Amino acid sequence: MGNMILIVEDEEAIRDLIRINLTAAGFVCDEAEDGLQALAKAKASPPDLILLDWMLPGLDGLGLLRRLKADPALAPIPVIMLTAKSEEGDIVLGLEMGAADYVTKPFSNKVLIARIRAILRRGEEEPAEETIRYLALTLIPGQRRATLAGQEIALTCGEFDLLALLCSRPGHVYTRGQIVARTKGEDYPVTDRAVDVQIVNLRRKLGAFGERLETVRGVGYRMRG
Ligand code: CA
Repeated sequence: MGNMILIVEDEEAIRDLIRINLTAAGFVCDEAEDGLQALAKAKASPPDLILLDWMLPGLDGLGLLRRLKADPALAPIPVIMLTAKSEEGDIVLGLEMGAADYVTKPFSNKVLIARIRAILRRGEEEPAEETIRYLALTLIPGQRRATLAGQEIALTCGEFDLLALLCSRPGHVYTRGQIVARTKGEDYPVTDRAVDVQIVNLRRKLGAFGERLETVRGVGYRMRG
């Protein structure tokens, strides 16, 4: 059986067109016309991929993406955003929130299908290894690999350990002492000062996403929960 795609789109004509084309390409389709219906369907039978229109009545695309990424059972399902115009702000926000890719309307069916196939392949290649996910950030400790919205980020061992610690428990504040104790490497010394330097470097490497790495004055650091 082909991969199951959940099409979330409030405009019936567009939804029909996508369904017809995806079905012809061998996919099995399910449809939802608003965010809440999509959430219920995703929970009832998790699809392999979600095509998510950004402008929806009620719970909009961004709201639905947030709900999906906050649910450990649904968070791994890749989401491709469908945006009406090339609304850069929406795209950036969507990718930061964990969307796998985006397609701007009007789109060609060939492009849409190619993007879907590429994302599904990426999922198959991903090893079933311990993975820490925090919104668009994915950390695979076994491989010391970190990606933000699918883009590799080069981190030092210390930076990786620190980021993994903070991302494994968003919202929790760690003191410098706790960070030193939890990330101490065998071959590299960690001091309070080194933690501060790593935080600065991480914020720089994470770009706009780095704003989520918060300083709690007089206490320590946390990832925004
Ligand atoms: Ca729409």
